[in-house]
Amino acid sequence: MKISILTLFPQMFEGLFSHSILHQAQKKGIVEYNVMDFRNYSADKHGRVDDYPYGGGGGMVLTPQPLFDAVEHEKKENNSDPRVILLCPQGERYTQKKAEELAREENLILLCGHYEGYDERIREHLVTDEISIGDYVLTGGEIGAMVITDSVTRLLPGALGNENSAVTDSFSTGLLEYPHYTRPADFRGYKVPEILLSGHHANIDAWRREQAIRRTWERRPDLLEYVPLSDKEKKMVEKWDEE
Ligand code: SAM
Repeated sequence: MKISILTLFPQMFEGLFSHSILHQAQKKGIVEYNVMDFRNYSADKHGRVDDYPYGGGGGMVLTPQPLFDAVEHEKKENNSDPRVILLCPQGERYTQKKAEELAREENLILLCGHYEGYDERIREHLVTDEISIGDYVLTGGEIGAMVITDSVTRLLPGALGNENSAVTDSFSTGLLEYPHYTRPADFRGYKVPEILLSGHHANIDAWRREQAIRRTWERRPDLLEYVPLSDKEKKMVEKWDEE
């Protein structure tokens, strides 16, 4: 997969791409990140990428030309017509489901806005998706682009050391993940649940499933609505509700 990121602050991505799973994934050739400074595509002799808003008001607005040219250059370079995603607080709220959908693409182009906003024609005629990473306003789209890049990369086959870890992650199954424990079995008198020390895998799997349902019921009951539960599990949840 190739992920191209159009930004005015390319240095912000250096730390992200030089550590941990994202760094390894690039080294293994699973993913390529291309961070582009779209100021380089400005036709303005001073390299301007923004201007005052028509109609007045505060803040600067990103002009369409540099972003259109940068996206068109990237499409030509890759000989592809990928999804062009605008990071935007007004976009569709980002979820694990969306990350899974994007991880199936071969190419993605992410556009990081800045300042007051961007010319509406960018939204209307250049982008295919608008994504918000939450109901709050950030200074720019870079942190959102990092969120998407990270969450998509870890889903690519071979990116994680243990393939199973993405499968049981919170949201992948529709549930929050079950609790984890490691050594020591007794830490300051706080004990690891006996069942995890039993070596009985079927019982451990059943316990984990129950814990995942319980945790989701406690913290994110809204998610439970979409998770297929067995009759036994439904009864278990009803019992918790009654208690
Ligand atoms: N005036 C805009 C509004 O009210 O919708 C907010 C502009 S914000 C200061 C500048 C840029 O940060 C946006 O164009 C977008 O690229 C990015 N941004 C801000 N909040 C975001 C969020 N929740 N999700 C994704 N991107 C966001």
